[in-house]
Amino acid sequence: MTARVTPERRKASAPCPICRKPAQEAFAPFCSQRCADVDLGRWLGERYVIPGPEAEPGEEHDDDGAH
Ligand SMILES: [Zn+2]
Repeated sequence: MTARVTPERRKASAPCPICRKPAQEAFAPFCSQRCADVDLGRWLGERYVIPGPEAEPGEEHDDDGAH
């Protein structure tokens, strides 16, 4: 008793990458504008929170002792 999904159908209705709900054509590949925004925000957010050498405000000291 296995519900088989044909490749064609699966291709036409890939799940929303955000909430895994069936995607809507109008918002493909997402299920809604909200999920599209979430994905965009997540993407932009990741760009803004790139971990790296960042001087903390209020703590400015040039300690060049890493030679
Ligand atoms: Zn969704």
